[in-house]
Amino acid sequence: MFESVRARLTIWYTGVLALVLVVFAITVYLLLAQLATQRTDSSLAESADSFAAISTSEQSDERAGTGDNTVVDAVREFRFVDRSFKLYDKAHRIVAASDSPGNERSNRSRKGAQIPTGPVPASLLGDAERLGKAYATLPEVGGDSDGFRAFSRPIKLNGREYIIVVMRSLHDQDEMLGQLRLTLFVSIPLALLVAGLGGYFLARRSLAPVTRMSDKAARIGAANLHERLPVSNEGDELGRLAQVFNDLLARLSESFEQQRRFMADASHELRTPVAVVRGESEVILSRAERTPEDYRESLEIVHDEGRRLTRIVEDLFTLARADAGQYQIHESEFDFDEVVGDSVRAMRTLAAKRKVEVRHESSGELPFTGDELLIRHMIINLLDNAIKYTQPGGRVNATSMRHEAEYVVTIADTGTGIPLAARPHIFERFYRVDSVRGRGKDIDLDHAGSGAGLGLSIAHWIAEAHHGRLELTRSSDAGSTFVATFPAP
Ligand code: ADP
Repeated sequence: MFESVRARLTIWYTGVLALVLVVFAITVYLLLAQLATQRTDSSLAESADSFAAISTSEQSDERAGTGDNTVVDAVREFRFVDRSFKLYDKAHRIVAASDSPGNERSNRSRKGAQIPTGPVPASLLGDAERLGKAYATLPEVGGDSDGFRAFSRPIKLNGREYIIVVMRSLHDQDEMLGQLRLTLFVSIPLALLVAGLGGYFLARRSLAPVTRMSDKAARIGAANLHERLPVSNEGDELGRLAQVFNDLLARLSESFEQQRRFMADASHELRTPVAVVRGESEVILSRAERTPEDYRESLEIVHDEGRRLTRIVEDLFTLARADAGQYQIHESEFDFDEVVGDSVRAMRTLAAKRKVEVRHESSGELPFTGDELLIRHMIINLLDNAIKYTQPGGRVNATSMRHEAEYVVTIADTGTGIPLAARPHIFERFYRVDSVRGRGKDIDLDHAGSGAGLGLSIAHWIAEAHHGRLELTRSSDAGSTFVATFPAP
């Protein structure tokens, strides 16, 4: 149960609230207790002062009475409902005591009002003489919890020195503090209970979307990747979380779809050469008697398709490793211009076979650091396309030069060009322009159709892997120009 966030939130919330309430209650209680004692103390001191004032004026009026008797009378007559007076001489002997108010009104049995009749502690009288005044809290006679507060100070009456002690029951004060304690003891747990229940309810309510989201997320799999989590309120944190999840699901489903398409396209591309190989071999084997020319012709076809298969599988492997980020780029220093020149020379045989002229315009050394094999692969792909899609008698021009902070490689041909609608897609995997012959040029489709539509996407990836870019800058009936740019060292 305590595993759940709402239970933990409630416990934390209630715990912190309990701490705050308890600290608050203790502070309030101590402050009130101190205040009550201060008020009792000052009222006791005031009583003592007024006793002194009244007694002094009475004695000066009468002038007759002398000695302790007058003082004794004064004390007896000086009555208060809730306090009593005692008068001691310098030797700490009791001289006079007022009637205890509790004794008088014992019929009302007012609890705790009984003033102790015994002697007050000598320390109180001593302190009062020494310090001018002294306070003490005395236990109650019966031993109940309520006690008495006593104030004592020296007093001069009739020319003689006495010590007056005024006492008052702490019953009222204790009763008030007791009630406060009771109130706090009852109200704090009650408040915590209400706050805890309220907090749990609120936490449950605000976390309900999480429960709904996790229920839904648990039901989403590869088969229903198009489904989305419920977004209760787009503005709040949970709504944004659901939105982020949904975006993630969208991206996942997108790459899932891409993967699926890739698999379908790849198997489709592989099926064609395999079907050709099977068909060709079945035809040649269907009759026992074949001329060596027949065998040779069929074997050439099988060989071509084998090469095509190898190329497709290698391209697929390169792309798969590039996607997984596992393609190890082996960097070395080489001359970019030389690689372009070498690639052009390597493609000359193919170009000559197709009666296409290939030229390389060099502009001097272009030192570069990168994966030489990959760069060569990219240029060969571009040259291969340029030659493939150029009619006999056409030209392919390769230039490599430095332009400001970049190396620029341009492969321009006088070929068929790429239709406008196809241009945005040519770097996509397995994308091929449908009919080359449809473009009104005399192109040998057997050869032109030999690619699987992976060449340009691999070339594009190679450029990016070297922090460069590959673009189709021009394409028309007059031919196409591909430009690859790389940051120069
Ligand atoms: P493929 O292996 O089929 O050549 P690519 O990815 O290299 O695949 O090229 C994709 C498509 O772009 C090709 O099918 C072709 O129609 C078109 N294309 C590429 N280069 C040229 C070019 N130089 N001239 C005309 N069309 C081209």
